[in-house]
Amino acid sequence: MIPDRLSILQHRLQVAACASPLASASVTLIAASKGQGEAALEAALNAGVRDFGENRVQEALAKWPGLQRRYPDVRVHLIGPLQTNKVREAVGFFDAIHTVDRERLADALAREMQRQERAPACFVQVNTGEEPQKAGMMPAQVDALIRHCRAAGLPVTGLMCIPPMGQLPAPHFALLRSLALLHGLPHLSMGMSEDFETAVRLGATHVRIGRALFGER
Ligand SMILES: *Cc1c(COP(=O)(O)O)cnc(C)c1O
Repeated sequence: MIPDRLSILQHRLQVAACASPLASASVTLIAASKGQGEAALEAALNAGVRDFGENRVQEALAKWPGLQRRYPDVRVHLIGPLQTNKVREAVGFFDAIHTVDRERLADALAREMQRQERAPACFVQVNTGEEPQKAGMMPAQVDALIRHCRAAGLPVTGLMCIPPMGQLPAPHFALLRSLALLHGLPHLSMGMSEDFETAVRLGATHVRIGRALFGER
């Protein structure tokens, strides 16, 4: 099942990319694997998936180090919120962190990266829908946060967003794209099972796909 779903997804990604002049030349499919056990991860690995997204530091550390010994080219992305007290473990383990959304976290990450001499790629998460309870920096403050990251030496390469439920995602993806262009950031982490084709047409470089690959949770 997972190999079939993966080839359908890859086909849909290609079609979406061909359909738009804004599409990126290459799109990384990140398998959002929160809650998935070893069997599902192995099935995805055997089908050729090499990028995985985890939401929790502890869950990732419990699941991945063993598998990474057998699949050394796997990359694990943190796509869930990061508490400052988990920064040390996160920097030591993840290949990319998609959820930098405040200055204090950026400072802690920069310090820890220097200490460990390790530099996972960082994405600033933007709360494009300006939802009060949601993670991500408000669009009006993104400029200041990116400047702050750069001054602190944090390697920010892109932006990430999760559009509000029940709204058309395209305006949110377009906003993220224009913010990234404004700041010269090459990477856009946007698009999930329900809306990844729209995201790809608007220039996503990283899509985070859970249910359409692993089945309903
Ligand atoms: C779970 C999750 C996804 C994937 O969602 P699906 O709808 O299952 O594709 C993507 N991004 C984040 C941050 C997630 O938590």
